[in-house]
Amino acid sequence: MKLTKGFWQTYKEVPADAEIPSHQLMIRAGLIHKSGSGLYNYLPMGLRSIRKVENIIREELNKIGCNEIAMSVVTPGELWQETGRWDKMGGLMLRFKDKKDADLCISPTNEEAVTDIFRKTVKSYKQLPVGLYQINTKFRDEIRPRFGLMRGREFTMKDAYTFHMDKASLDQGYQEMYDAYTAIFTRLGLEFIPVVADGGAMASADSKTHEFQVVANSGEDLIIYSQEAQYAANVEKAQTLRSKTNFDLNIVPLKEVETIKTESIEAVCKLLNITQAQSLKSMVYTATTKDESKLVLAMVIGDDTVNEVKLQNYLKCDHLVATTEDEMKKAKLWKGFIGPVNLDSLLSLEIILDSEINLDASYVIGANKKDAHLIGFNPKRDLKKIVSADLRLSKAGDLTLDGQNTVVEKRGIEVGHVFQLGDKYTKDMKVGILDQNGKLVTPLMGCYGIGVTRVVAAAIEQNHDENGIVWPKSIAPYQVYFATIVKAEEFVKIADDIYKDMMNAGLEVIYDDRNVGPGNKFKDSDLLGLPYRVVLGERDFGASGELEVIERKTGLVTKVKREDLIQTLNNFLK
Ligand code: ATP
Ligand code: MG
Repeated sequence: MKLTKGFWQTYKEVPADAEIPSHQLMIRAGLIHKSGSGLYNYLPMGLRSIRKVENIIREELNKIGCNEIAMSVVTPGELWQETGRWDKMGGLMLRFKDKKDADLCISPTNEEAVTDIFRKTVKSYKQLPVGLYQINTKFRDEIRPRFGLMRGREFTMKDAYTFHMDKASLDQGYQEMYDAYTAIFTRLGLEFIPVVADGGAMASADSKTHEFQVVANSGEDLIIYSQEAQYAANVEKAQTLRSKTNFDLNIVPLKEVETIKTESIEAVCKLLNITQAQSLKSMVYTATTKDESKLVLAMVIGDDTVNEVKLQNYLKCDHLVATTEDEMKKAKLWKGFIGPVNLDSLLSLEIILDSEINLDASYVIGANKKDAHLIGFNPKRDLKKIVSADLRLSKAGDLTLDGQNTVVEKRGIEVGHVFQLGDKYTKDMKVGILDQNGKLVTPLMGCYGIGVTRVVAAAIEQNHDENGIVWPKSIAPYQVYFATIVKAEEFVKIADDIYKDMMNAGLEVIYDDRNVGPGNKFKDSDLLGLPYRVVLGERDFGASGELEVIERKTGLVTKVKREDLIQTLNNFLK
């Protein structure tokens, strides 16, 4: 691409709403334009990278025999009614009506649509297992669209779905897809970790799910990780043990103490001169299902935090929210002074203790009175009923479940997700397949997503420096930035010929033939971050017959004769 014919503009200014490097750089390097909140136009340079990501995904999925389709981006509401998701998807789904007053939405995901295609096509076990995928536009009306393509409202997703007669086949299909993802993200040049993820309240105990996380400081997800134990889990799902806790095993009678204006655990423990592990944190939540709404008291050790995903899964509720101060007041609960004793007289609520709470120890708890706590709370003695569950949020310094290794925290960007859905959709949508004995059975499903546009952002987040993007070779918009510093006609001619040679050799080259100074060309070249820059300087080339090849990542300069240029580039690009 000759830049004098190109459609490319770089920018010095960082847009005000661009908080993280990838977002700033994608705008500054002229890859994308914002068209609205969470909406972006893909410009030529950006689109080329997106297409490269798509093609790597396509090649690897085709290799495992997955079939590419393209489903309509707009899907009828009726399909979503069949699974109850028309109501459950909430504000994320953009709904509208057509002129006949029929419900439609822009697909946020496509389980219903693909299951509909499947049930119209497949009738016999002989046609299974089968996998379908598409690379298509999704729309999710995200509460906080941000970070550019990282969390857009409209974005490109690869979504794949597999169908199976039994769990063994699903497990095999899942593993194939897991391996294909590993191949994809490796080819994309990303540093990634597959992590155990949360399957939600409805997932059966044996259904597997992993997220593929790109390690980056700006990642929105927290990963609990131990290299030694080869353990990696999203914090939502992670199960670890507290490292050694010094419990207070001295049993004393319950006693109320005055704790004026000490709403936080830190303040109470400081006032009473105890460690936070000698206190318990009491959190009130409102758990809602289709049929009821109830208050729940979740308790963890003072320096722990409630993992709300675990709590929601335990309660199997549709929604779980921390009870607001107003609601607490109505229930006669004092924020900062809540505890499990004397509660029944106030209201009936379910009390759940985190399983790390030592039931034989003594703790400080809220007294359910303003400015008062109780000391000497002993769960075994003081609670009518003990209900324990794993509720705590894992944290750095915890131990793996075998107690052998310490975990650390890493931040990650979820670029892919593989998930065993089981029969959730096929059951709701009444899919029946004839097995060997002529009996109708409900097939099992897996679903597998990759955020194509998010991958591009994540790749930049992981690969950039103070001068701009440093693209992984496989997804750079072009491979070579050919910058010329020539004036005399004969050198312009040489430059044109070298460009043609590179093109003919199949190299993807940007030819910066603009009439601007070398400083501008080099700045733009660094900002765009193609793997190699080739410089033809009239003076140097005239004197030595050599060009410079500069590696973007290391700055390493190699001088090459014109006749060796293509061979050298081909070697470097391998
Ligand atoms: P997140 O937790 O980040 O909101 P999700 O778990 O809801 O994502 P999935 O339903 O698993 O997302 O979608 C599959 C993939 O699509 C994700 O792994 C992610 O890479 C990508 N993705 C999801 N939401 C967005 C978005 N708003 N913008 C860009 N990519 C997205
Ligand atoms: Mg996900």
